Amino acid sequence: MNKKPPIAPPPGFARQLPGDDVGYTIVGNPLTREFPVVSDTSNTPTAALLDGATVRTEVCLPMRLLDGRDVEAQVYTFHGLADGKEHIALKFGKPGAAPLVRLHSECLTGDVFGSLRCDCGPQLHEALRLLNNEGGYLLYLRQEGRGIGLYSKLDAYRLQEQGRDTYAADRELGHGTDARDYTAAAQMLRALGLQRIELLSNNPDKSSQLEQHGIQVASRLTGVHANPHNVGYLRAKATQTHHVLATILPNFPVGAS
Ligand SMILES: [Zn+2]
Repeated sequence: MNKKPPIAPPPGFARQLPGDDVGYTIVGNPLTREFPVVSDTSNTPTAALLDGATVRTEVCLPMRLLDGRDVEAQVYTFHGLADGKEHIALKFGKPGAAPLVRLHSECLTGDVFGSLRCDCGPQLHEALRLLNNEGGYLLYLRQEGRGIGLYSKLDAYRLQEQGRDTYAADRELGHGTDARDYTAAAQMLRALGLQRIELLSNNPDKSSQLEQHGIQVASRLTGVHANPHNVGYLRAKATQTHHVLATILPNFPVGAS
């Protein structure tokens, strides 16, 4: 059987997974940095709303990570979340006083099917690996397609095939630039007893919204998970919603889609 020869990674990148011909991640994640931001949590207007959510159930979930390790997470469900959706939190290890936290928005195509159109799958697995190593929480938020839903996201992919970028496509379908609201995430953190976190993200909107809800946030940047299919998507995130990716992407080859 003839196998397509692998594409060489761009300078500074390494192959994302063994045997993966097209996925790359930045070597050593040189963008990682921490910048603590202290918020006044004493008198936030949403304090009553945030305190209205409680843990509903807790159950152990054995899992196998992509590197083959078998691990366990505690899965939490909640009562009283503001948007009424079935968000869950996964706790790994023994989190410290200001634990590592990833707010991951559901992406069926990326998380489950390994879609190369976005970077959600690699970001999820990066988070699971780090959280299992260090202890911490993954909040898996049911916000498919930046909150517009699965069908609308797939409709937007059709528009992107005609030349729109990811945000222009969403707007053409009548949606905003990013429909995600992290009030429920702040409620989940509060219900878990977390007032201070280290947030794993390259999206400044997440830390900003959490701080508005009185969560004290230090930030750690995710890796840059680029491939020839998602580089246009990553560039749009960097230039239009200020995701911290811009210093890497100019060196990456032009995307295939
Ligand atoms: Zn995705």
